[in-house]
Amino acid sequence: MGWVTDLHPTGSELDACVQCGLCLPVCPTFRLTGRETASPRGRLHAMSAVREGVSEVDDTFAGIIDFCLGCRACEPVCPGMVPYGRALEGARAEIVAQVPGRRRRKILVGSLIPSRLLLGVGTRALAMLQKLRLTGLIPRRFRRTVSGVRPLADRGGSVLGHAGGSGEAGTVKLLAGCIQDEWFRPVNQTAVRLLEMAGYRVEVPEGQTCCGALAAHDGQADAARRLAEQNMGAFAGADRVVATAAGCSAHLAGYEHWAPGGVAVSGKAMDVTVAVSRAIADGLLPTLEGDRGPIAIQDPCHLRHAQRVIAEPRHILSAAGYTVIETDPAGMCCGAAGLYFMTNPEASAELGDRKADQVRRAGVTRVASANPGCEMQLRAHLDSGYDVRHPIEWYLQALEGSG
Ligand code: SF4
Ligand code: SF4
Repeated sequence: MGWVTDLHPTGSELDACVQCGLCLPVCPTFRLTGRETASPRGRLHAMSAVREGVSEVDDTFAGIIDFCLGCRACEPVCPGMVPYGRALEGARAEIVAQVPGRRRRKILVGSLIPSRLLLGVGTRALAMLQKLRLTGLIPRRFRRTVSGVRPLADRGGSVLGHAGGSGEAGTVKLLAGCIQDEWFRPVNQTAVRLLEMAGYRVEVPEGQTCCGALAAHDGQADAARRLAEQNMGAFAGADRVVATAAGCSAHLAGYEHWAPGGVAVSGKAMDVTVAVSRAIADGLLPTLEGDRGPIAIQDPCHLRHAQRVIAEPRHILSAAGYTVIETDPAGMCCGAAGLYFMTNPEASAELGDRKADQVRRAGVTRVASANPGCEMQLRAHLDSGYDVRHPIEWYLQALEGSG
């Protein structure tokens, strides 16, 4: 049958691959298995076979594509500049359109997670289980991942609807996010404080919704488009659209694929680490005196590989007085990868264990990570003696401590 959606991997995307194999050593799933079909080149070959009518979008194709983390570590090393992440989203949209059995995930990423009401109810239930120390009641397959959720009791209020700040440096509209707004509120609260201190007017529009990254990565194209179109209205008129989760900022930067006129948001999208790092470099936020000791850093794939943002989180931590300890110069995926812990639990756990070992070898218990999924994976695979937070939280803590 070939392709049936307008999002399918295009000929120019697939033909850009020159089959050189330079991407194989950086691909976590190839390194786990050694299988060509678990490599970027193999997956692009499988997409090309569908395009040429040699194979179908069937369970075998879905197995090859679904084992991919979507980490995009293959993109920076690719001499053909294959837009692998875009082609992957297209292949997943085809799987959803042609392979039956995706209904439960469609409800999860298209309706449950973006619903403030339903996610709020679920979060309050989880907060209660945490408080009563009853998280052991959570089904076994989710228990380890959920153990990485921050304590929810003291997370404070949502920043949704907030508007404040002088505006001397411009206007920022902040994406609160879905999971980020419920489970990682202190990161959003920190972003608002720092950006206002830097002289921005910060608005967190009520009319926004989930960015749609989870839906897009899962091939739920209708949901991804619906969410992007709602956000287009909410974020109109900003100088910058800032997100505090690396996965969200990477997705906003690709909105031209998901909404008519989406470049109006993608052209202004910025991860909060970039916004804060620039504010420090421009003297709008201070570089702090004093030595606050070592801190280990973990690079989220959607920051390091998808957006090529590497220096900025290190700059923020250095400006706060920390000595940054590298844990993984190759930036290998931690295995969180959206819903990967549900779809490929063994590979996710293996990669999480490897990432935790890298952090342990760094010999420090303070860890900086700029993405909620990575933070949860690190917390779930490290013991409670480790303190994992967003780089901007470490910066604000140092700022407050310095008076
Ligand atoms: S590095 Fe790029 S061009 Fe080379 S095999 Fe991988 S995807 Fe193809
Ligand atoms: S996105 Fe990550 S897991 Fe998927 S092919 Fe590229 S490097 Fe491998």
